[in-house]
Order: sequence, then C-alpha cells, then structure tokens
Amino acid sequence: MLKKPQSALEQYKNKRGGVFEPELTWFGRLWHFSHWREIRLTGLAALLAAVYIALQPGPIEPVNLTYDIDLSEAEHGTLTITMIAEGHLPEYLDLEFPPGIFGDNGNGVRPHAPSGRALNANGQMGMALAVEETEYGWRLATQQVERAGFIYRIDLARVQGSEEDIRRHISTPVSGGLRAAGFEIFLEPVGMAVQDITVSMHNPSGLPVLVPWPALVKGRDLATERRRQLASRSSDASLGLGQGFKPGTDLGPVSQPANPLETAASVPSNLLYHPRDMADLNNSLIICGNIRSLESRARDTVIQYATDRTWLFADEAALELVRRIARTEMGFFGNSPTDQITVLMAANEVTSEQGFDVYGVHTGSSVLVMLDPETTWGMLEEQAASVIAHEMFHGWLGEAIPQTDPQMLWFTEGATSWYASRMLVTAGIWSPEHARGVLAARLERDYANNALLGRMSVAEAASEVMANAEQVRFGYAGGANACMALDEMLARATGSIRPLDEVMRQLYTDRDRGGLTREFLLETILKVTGVDCDVWLDTHVYGKTALPPSDQLI
Ligand SMILES: [Zn+2]
Repeated sequence: MLKKPQSALEQYKNKRGGVFEPELTWFGRLWHFSHWREIRLTGLAALLAAVYIALQPGPIEPVNLTYDIDLSEAEHGTLTITMIAEGHLPEYLDLEFPPGIFGDNGNGVRPHAPSGRALNANGQMGMALAVEETEYGWRLATQQVERAGFIYRIDLARVQGSEEDIRRHISTPVSGGLRAAGFEIFLEPVGMAVQDITVSMHNPSGLPVLVPWPALVKGRDLATERRRQLASRSSDASLGLGQGFKPGTDLGPVSQPANPLETAASVPSNLLYHPRDMADLNNSLIICGNIRSLESRARDTVIQYATDRTWLFADEAALELVRRIARTEMGFFGNSPTDQITVLMAANEVTSEQGFDVYGVHTGSSVLVMLDPETTWGMLEEQAASVIAHEMFHGWLGEAIPQTDPQMLWFTEGATSWYASRMLVTAGIWSPEHARGVLAARLERDYANNALLGRMSVAEAASEVMANAEQVRFGYAGGANACMALDEMLARATGSIRPLDEVMRQLYTDRDRGGLTREFLLETILKVTGVDCDVWLDTHVYGKTALPPSDQLI
C-alpha cells in the first residue's frame, strides 16, 4: 500500500538526478496507532517543495504565478484552473504535479483538457501556444512570450471505499461541491524560481467556500469586505493576516468583534490569497459546497468548526468540543501559532476491513477529521476527540516548532500523543481514569509486548516512516513512553512537577531557532532544568536499553 507513492517520488527524483535527502522520507508519513491514523499534509507538501527547490538548476529570473480557480462546475466535481506565468519565460515551461499524482488513476484526480495561450498586457488572450503531453504533466511552448496562460480541467471522482490509502480520499467530491488538496490540483513549472504566487477563486454561484489552511479565508470577498470595513470599521470575516499568507495589498486592518456561534460561512464571489511559497500553495486545502460552519473564539484566535454533512450530534456541541480542546492547548502554550484553528469533520469513506474508524489530517493548525457517519456523541468524545487534540497539538509541536529531522520523530509524535491525552483531561472531556486506561493499553500492546523491545531503539523505529505497522507502533508508543520517563527523571532531579511541560513551552518560545534537533532539545532541557540528558537519551532513546512502561500517565 505504501509502495506506490514512494516509488513515484523515487521516479521523480531519479528523473531529475537529485539527491535523496533524509527528510524526503516524510513522504508517506502515516500514523498506525490503535484505531486511527493521521497524515501530515504540511509535512508532505513542504517536502515536495524542498524537492523542487533542491532540483532547481541554477539562478533563473523568477516568474510570478497566478492560479485562477473557476468554481462554477465545482458541484459536479470539476475545477477549471488557469495558471498564468509572467516574467522572463524560457523557451518552454514544463508543468508538473507533485509526484504520485499525474497519470495515477487511483487517486480519483483527473487533470485533462490542457490548452495554452499567450496573454497580452491587459490580460486578453493572444495566440495559441503549443502544448505537448509529457510523462509527468505538460510542456507549454513559451518562446517570445512574456505572459502565458495555461488552462486545464480537473475532475474529482470518489475513490472506492476499498482503497485503504487515506491520502487518496483527501481530494474528493463532497455534497454540493468538492474538497481539494493543493498538491493535487496545482501544476507547477519545474526548474523555475518563483517570486509571487496568487490564488484567486471565481465563485459565480456563490458556493460557501472554506480555505482552512493556509489562507484562513472565510467570508466575504475582499472588495465587499473592504467596503464593509470602511463603512463600519468592523467585520465578521476571518482573515488570517500574516499567517501563512502575505496580507492582500488592498486590505486594511481587520478588527473583529467576538461573535460566538455565528452560523454558516457567508458567500464570497471572489477570494484571493497569496501563498508565501510553493510549500504553502501545496498545503492549501480548499473546500466548497454544502458546508456549514460555526465559529467561536478563544482570546484572539478564531475557532471554527465546519462540516459538509448532518451528524448524530449537534453542530453547536461539536464546536464546543473543538473550542475546549483549542482553548486548553492554547492555555498550555500561552497562545496560538495561528489566527485561526479550523476543524473540519467529514465522512470516512474507507470501508475496507483494514480501514480505521477515524482518520486525522492536519495542515498547519487546522484539522480534517474523517469519521464514520454513524458516529455518536459518545464516540466523538471518546475517540475522535483524541484525534482532534493530537492533530491540533501538531500546530505547535511539528509545525510552529518544525519537525524536520526524522531522528526527532520519537519526540514529536511521542510527546504529541501523550500531551493530547492530558489536554483532554484538562479540558474536562476525558476523565483521568479513561485517559490512563487508553495510555496504559497502548503502552502495553505497542511497546511492552512489542517484539522489537530491546532489539531496536525507539528513535530508529520512529524515524523509519515507511516501516511496517509493528515498527511504527513501537516507535510511537515508545516515544510517548520515553517522554513520560524523561519527565519523571527530570522531576526526580529537580523536584518540580511535570518539568517537561516547561521544556515544551520553552521550545515553543525559541521556535524561531529552526527545526527541532536533538541538540536543540538537549539545550532547552538544560536551560529549563539544569539537567544534561545526553547520556540518558543515548541509552534509552537512541540506544536499545528498554524503559519500563510508565505509570505516571496522567
Ligand atoms: Zn502525530
């Protein structure tokens, strides 16, 4: 199941003669813990962008790109995208999707009907440009052209429920519209430096639209928004200024009075956003159709719940659950790394025996949770809440404190798993007994009774993302156990309660120092507690000396 995307990446890399960087193994990061799985959209897309950057042939004059998405046929699962490239264009542009997409019929994403046109200075179409199909996309002839438009259509079809690879279910038709991941719909010119990127959406039928990451755009179109602001100095749109996107140049300051339980996304006719880079572009998640959204607020952060279906629980109750988790995690770290946290709940379409009840995807601080349509309120609190808490926690640990080194996955995933349970207890969603039961069962099954105990180090097990399920479980449960044991060891040495909490907060405070490395973690622990953990980590995390399963779970 995991072979295919990896080999697509291999092909892609080999085709470019690039070097296989260690972080490329991020491709295909899947969570194999107990009853649910996660996939890190951001990690995936950032990685793809890293491939692009690594494979750039040399300094070329940067181009500006605009992607105009026409939503007029979105309710039939079709997008028409016009990519406009401007600048000093070479003889031709090789346009490709990130690996694993083009020519792969299994993912339900079918790009077709390409055509190219030169564009004149005021945007009118000029002569037709030759388009040639290549193995991974299309080649557009752009000689003597300063502005080229490339028009293509994307049809999204629902992938069969027997398909277990959850990545193939992210881009899909939904009720009245579609859900599309940036890395599956945006063609990119290969080997080009890109300066500015703009994504605009044309929405003539006024479909509700959400772009939970990274645009964080909900609400009215910018022109209307601007008029409203000028008229009233207030607004109910949620624009995540400065987070992930460059603020629109025509946009003034946005001040938003709290308006809890504001219903239904308003209807923008034209949305515009500016990804910072190709990674941001790939990370986008665009959802339109019969979606309802409710929002609340915790401090300055908009907490949004959105869904495209009716559940056995009330929207207001789901929003309240999301809000309590978000408020608790923000309280733990002191603030939110983003202006908006969106949790989108959708149906889990995987029907295979080997499928999981719940899947979680996070991109930035926002979370897509795919649940059984028959999920009851009790199941939501018991199971899905931990997926939401886990994925949202990655907004801090994994995103704001960037996870880039596979040797640190034991910490990123281990700590996130442990803290997610603790956050649910603090939020009053799980009782301490329930949390203890869940954690103890995981440690026993996936760590203490795992055949790899004592034979493989926890760090090594967690770092190999394409490993078998048993190894991944061992790495992740072992990582959680190591974090608990580390906390106990530091507590004994310092006499303080839960000293790892302060370490987490310090990592977040110092997050601008770059990706999370072993050195960064060691320095932070030393700074906060005065304890040098180098030998301890060598022994129990990077070495094979097993730790007993922790009993200080909650
Ligand atoms: Zn995770």
